[in-house]
Amino acid sequence: WKGKVEIPSEGSFIKLNPDKTITVPDNPIIPFIMGDGIGFEITPEMIKVVNAAVEKVYGNSKKIYWLEVLAGDKAEENGLNRMPQETLDLLKQSIVSIKGPLGTPVGKGGKSLNAILRQSMDFYSAIRPVFYMGQPSPIPNPERVNVTVFRENSDDVYMAIEYMPKTEEVKKVKEFFINQMGVSEYALPEDVGITVKPMSEYKTKRHVRKAFRYALENGKKHIAVVGKGNIMKATEGAFINWAFEVAQEDEFKGKIITEGEPQEGQAKIYKVITDQMLMQLVLKPEYYDVIITQNLNGDYISDLASALVGGPGFVPSGNIGDGYALFESTHGTANDIAGKGIANPLSIILSGAMMLEYLGWKDASNVIYKAVKQVISEGKGTPDIANGFRKLGKQAVELSTQAFGDEIVKAI
Ligand code: NAD
Repeated sequence: WKGKVEIPSEGSFIKLNPDKTITVPDNPIIPFIMGDGIGFEITPEMIKVVNAAVEKVYGNSKKIYWLEVLAGDKAEENGLNRMPQETLDLLKQSIVSIKGPLGTPVGKGGKSLNAILRQSMDFYSAIRPVFYMGQPSPIPNPERVNVTVFRENSDDVYMAIEYMPKTEEVKKVKEFFINQMGVSEYALPEDVGITVKPMSEYKTKRHVRKAFRYALENGKKHIAVVGKGNIMKATEGAFINWAFEVAQEDEFKGKIITEGEPQEGQAKIYKVITDQMLMQLVLKPEYYDVIITQNLNGDYISDLASALVGGPGFVPSGNIGDGYALFESTHGTANDIAGKGIANPLSIILSGAMMLEYLGWKDASNVIYKAVKQVISEGKGTPDIANGFRKLGKQAVELSTQAFGDEIVKAI
């Protein structure tokens, strides 16, 4: 950080086309937010690994021009807001970006920085590919886990339409339901609190289309559309029905099927109740390749899926909208270990690989996945990985965050 944002003069901005696809130059400018806490340790490792992979695959013909933009603690230290407008503008202008975790200071009030980011570019799908790379895992045969969770990110109880118990507001809402909608006092007693769960056709369908396209492009054959539609008919039930309607649209007809075995170029959708999905993820994680779900269910499901492969420290994520994309580590700022040089950088490194895939630079992302697998197969890793191996009675080589990054670069 040199005190002010300097746009790399040799880089070019990614272009957003009218059809919401992106055109990526060979010298894209990619902004990154370092993140708070362990962000300072893990984000530089991601940049190191991504650069090494791009150089290995493309030599001098492609190169990322990184642009640091400030947010969180680092912005504050430089006398700015925690989410400066300049940062938001640059992220938007650059279309694709990546970030470390950002802390939400307790007691300071204000909106979470992640929520500001999500809304500013309308990242309506949160995508978490969960796969196993040889790390210590709590289940037998974790290689069975290979599932991508598509969590809707712009609807549901996260819209924060809430009425706290014993307030004038909740009284008004409650009276409306009882007097005008015929709801019983039993359902809405005196001391009730109310959270509203909005879910809309437009937001659901754009999310589902994204997931269907992903499944077809990546040869994923079994898609679970998950929700508790039997209880929440107007929201999660509607979500499932809308997903099945999308399958009938011209773009997907004959490709997203509901009956029979999916053939080459096809994927099949299944309606799965949330509780069944959670159980099946543990018992038969190999059943589904893609899970499409709402915001709140997606939160639970993606964490459970991540736990199957050792926790969120091993899983990348992408927030995707209409062309705009922001990749990020799935864990938080881990303040308890920040500054010690022991944080596991894999989540953000794998998010970097996921970003390369999004840019269409798949060969470079594959090189990263392969290198990470190799280093882990040698029992090498940060203390969390090494301890996990030891608990399973295996040999391990304990490395610092930086040394682990170096090993991955060496394996590239
Ligand atoms: P956390 O993920 O930061 O930490 C939970 C536990 O996991 C801690 O014991 C931590 O040491 C460990 N851990 C997390 N990441 C690790 C890594 N890479 N390597 C080794 N160990 C790791 O969750 P938290 O404590 O609930 O949250 C701390 C802060 O992070 C909060 O301010 C929260 O708002 C923020 N947060 C941000 C994001 C984001 O930016 N997307 C996500 C979650 C939490």
